Amino acid sequence: MKGSRRDRAVFVGAASSYFVKAIVLFGSPGSGKGTQAKMLTQCLMVPHISTGDMLRGRIRSGSESETGMVATMQLGALVPDLVVNEMVKERLSEADAARGFILDGYPRTLDQAGHLSEWLAGRGIHEVVIHLAVDYNVIIARLTGRRQCPRCGTLYNVSSHPPRVAGVCDLDGEELVVRDDDSEAVIRGRLDAYDRQTRPVLEYFRASGHRMVEVDASCDPPETLHRKICQMMESA
Ligand code: ADP
Repeated sequence: MKGSRRDRAVFVGAASSYFVKAIVLFGSPGSGKGTQAKMLTQCLMVPHISTGDMLRGRIRSGSESETGMVATMQLGALVPDLVVNEMVKERLSEADAARGFILDGYPRTLDQAGHLSEWLAGRGIHEVVIHLAVDYNVIIARLTGRRQCPRCGTLYNVSSHPPRVAGVCDLDGEELVVRDDDSEAVIRGRLDAYDRQTRPVLEYFRASGHRMVEVDASCDPPETLHRKICQMMESA
């Protein structure tokens, strides 16, 4: 069902009636932003821009070895606004984002939200915010059971979405790993950062009259949730 023609038609309809170019996927760690972003990106054919992936990429490439970024991410705390705002601004200016983009993990502070709103308003772009609301206990279960393929990035969960062979990626046979920041102590840090710094962004979006799609993302399997989001986008 992923990226089916029907979903694409619904989305293109929603996009053309409201001139949607920017989609902000909002939710706590473990809310499924990454999974939904991947499905949406296939429907809309616009890039999935994940600040978490970009920051991990910068660390892997060695360009951040002199900074405290590694330590910050290992604690589950947020990387400074200045660094992230600059990184996103550059990414949004690339050619493939001209038709639109899906933001995953940004904005995460009021400062970042202000920067994004200003950048978009300056270009006459109206964003839609999709809020994935998830029960706290479900989040903990998802994050502690999460496994990832280090080669292709596919995500699994030991209870809700296990691979066919335990510990091995279905797609390329690589041994699955626990992401560094999915240990229990770091998960607490990430959820704490979300409550203190990111939750207020939701109020900012609500209060400033942004178009919002609010969806309960606790129970439905990803494909069902994706279809619901597509339908809600149509009437947003
Ligand atoms: P999750 O949403 O599950 O926490 P991400 O991959 O989005 O995972 O983020 C991983 C880490 O990257 C965060 O804990 C934080 O340290 C850093 N990070 C990602 N996006 C941002 C952002 N917009 N601002 C500051 N730090 C960020």
